[in-house]
Amino acid sequence: MIKVGIPRALLFYFYYPLWRAFFTELDIQVVVSPETNKRILDAGLRTALGEACLPVKLFFGHVLELSGKVDYLFVPRLISVEHKEYICPKFMGLSDMLRVRLANLPPIIDTALDVSGRRGLDWSHFFEKVGSIFTRDRHLIKRAYCSALEADKNFRRLLKSGLLPPEAMDAADGISEAAATSVASPGFLKIGLLGHPYNLYDSYISMNLIGKMRQMGASVVTPASVSDDLIDNQTKRLPKRLFWTLGKQMIGSALTFFENEKLDGVIYLTSFGCGPESLVGELVKRWAKHRGNPPFMMLTIDEHTGEAGLVTRLEAFIEMIKRRKKNEDHVPSYGQPVHCC
Ligand code: SF4
Repeated sequence: MIKVGIPRALLFYFYYPLWRAFFTELDIQVVVSPETNKRILDAGLRTALGEACLPVKLFFGHVLELSGKVDYLFVPRLISVEHKEYICPKFMGLSDMLRVRLANLPPIIDTALDVSGRRGLDWSHFFEKVGSIFTRDRHLIKRAYCSALEADKNFRRLLKSGLLPPEAMDAADGISEAAATSVASPGFLKIGLLGHPYNLYDSYISMNLIGKMRQMGASVVTPASVSDDLIDNQTKRLPKRLFWTLGKQMIGSALTFFENEKLDGVIYLTSFGCGPESLVGELVKRWAKHRGNPPFMMLTIDEHTGEAGLVTRLEAFIEMIKRRKKNEDHVPSYGQPVHCC
């Protein structure tokens, strides 16, 4: 059986259920690299370009983990995943960077996906090209594409129900939806967590930020549960159209979170070396400051970030919100605010 390797990094958190269903229907075995650990991160740091962002460096580590174990590596060249929009240029050049820096890799499937509208192509063209590497049976490819769409639809439905991507993948894998939902049982606080999926849901890179927030009594809401329509509507209010898909998702989610009165705070997790985020993060920070509510904190991680520093900042933020909330909740019956002396 042919084995195709999918690195558990970057694009994995967007499209794994879609890709897996496609390859499985073609009778191809999908092999995913293990969860990130120190060895994988160190391998990525040693081999990737020094100026690459942390998620790209990590991607190298996951590729090395798969190398030698699979017949092909699946690293599609993502140019555009939405009409008239583009994805971060680093996604477009991943396969080139890998070929330049790493020797003896299995053949890389780096079929381009460009649904911007410039070339009149869509997702079905992309899958047709990928499928034709393995079979000439166009009916089989079509069937695999349909089952991929179905898996993706199911994944998005689980996300909208409040599950985080790793939980939604578990739920789709047969771990019961109820069991996955119980991981996200409601906390005393509700906090919006912004950031790219490959930072938020990689618990080694994020130093288990979500788990820590939950242990501290917070339920966590992420951009994964914000609908595309809402993101579109929020970003339409901006003076200029956003044509970077990831930036649009971040800004649309931030505006949604800031207007959600049920949220007690918002945290934005960024990674060092991210070009687009240097602008998006700054915009979000300014809006947060301008609005003044809910409380906002930005955390930047890189390969040197220590867990103790992150925990200290998180504890201080959560404690501040808890006190604030207690004060708000504790209003005397005659309706006067409580004063601290
Ligand atoms: S959006 Fe930022 S973090 Fe993500 S791949 Fe591009 S540069 Fe790296």
